[in-house]
Amino acid sequence: MFDSYSDFADHALVTIRQDQASGLKAIIAVHNENRGPAIGGCRILPYRSTEDAVRDVLRLSRGMTYKTAIADILYGGGKAVIIADPQRDKSELLLEAMGDFVESLAGRYITSFDSGTTLDDIRVIARRTKHAAGFLPEAGNASGSTALGVYHCMLAAAEKVNGSATLAGLKVAIQGVGNVGERLAKLLARDGVQLILADTDPARAEALASAIGAKVVNSDAILQEPCDILSPCALGGILSSETIPKLGARAVVGGANNQLARPEDDVRLADRGILYCPDYLANAGGIIDLHYQRSHWDLAAVERHVASLGETFRQVIERAEKERRPTAEIADRIAEERFGRNLR
Ligand code: NAD
Repeated sequence: MFDSYSDFADHALVTIRQDQASGLKAIIAVHNENRGPAIGGCRILPYRSTEDAVRDVLRLSRGMTYKTAIADILYGGGKAVIIADPQRDKSELLLEAMGDFVESLAGRYITSFDSGTTLDDIRVIARRTKHAAGFLPEAGNASGSTALGVYHCMLAAAEKVNGSATLAGLKVAIQGVGNVGERLAKLLARDGVQLILADTDPARAEALASAIGAKVVNSDAILQEPCDILSPCALGGILSSETIPKLGARAVVGGANNQLARPEDDVRLADRGILYCPDYLANAGGIIDLHYQRSHWDLAAVERHVASLGETFRQVIERAEKERRPTAEIADRIAEERFGRNLR
């Protein structure tokens, strides 16, 4: 069955655990360990089939290798998925069984939260394994570091599209004001940015807009909104052959994962003259935060490291111009140069 997964050939380890007593059915994938142990969140989703779950964990763990490399932390890429409904099936027994599964890999994979898992869930998993991260009390929510990384990449984008690394007076449209989007909006409001917000939960967008002084549009209109920077902070796949021709922004810099519907959509953006910050570079602040939570917590060091994502984006832009290639392709190359592609 695995021969049909194009990403599979690159993986260092893929392992499945089924446990009748707890109902656990989970997969852990370690994509690459050249730079260090694999790190990545644990998703709980009611996948339609085991094949869908395998496909997802292969894709996501591979993405984590690129993210840890571009963030310049000494980890590889990994991910875990539990095939279950987080509302209905999640129990302490299930999470502890997942902890045993993670522990059985003896540190080759370090887990954390993701869709369907909360910090409290990771605390339960951590009862059974040393290899869980993200719940250090003094660190708070890692989404703050994710938002800060997006902010620094926006400064780099502003320098490119506006000639000055300041955001004051620019128009920024944020799609999704949850954990990341709300924190980002607050940072931008402090800088005097004109904000346009959208969320499928309109009450959430309205409450934030009245607190910080922003305009709200509906979640379909936000992509077309004329602005300097569009910031997707909700869901993936929103930059596509359908949406790119209608985008109203000069640059796209956001926290959402997997923003490009297809890899070649980076060319579509470049052809329209829209500067794109590769998503895994813009949103790498969270993984940097986890690294410091695991090694030595030092807020000033976290913030400095997260700020360096903006510098990395400047290097990506410069090389993309020199080599006349899209920014997403250049970011991939930089990451691959760091982790060493194809282990075989
Ligand atoms: P979240 O669930 O807290 O917030 C997402 C928000 O988007 C919600 O308020 C939701 O109502 C809204 N939304 C959903 N669909 C929408 C749509 N079509 N239009 C407008 N709004 C919509 O999630 P989050 O933690 O803020 O993460 C946002 C994105 O960033 C996700 O793609 C996530 O994978 C990615 N990400 C998050 C982190 C982190 O630290 N939280 C780190 C890396 C990547």
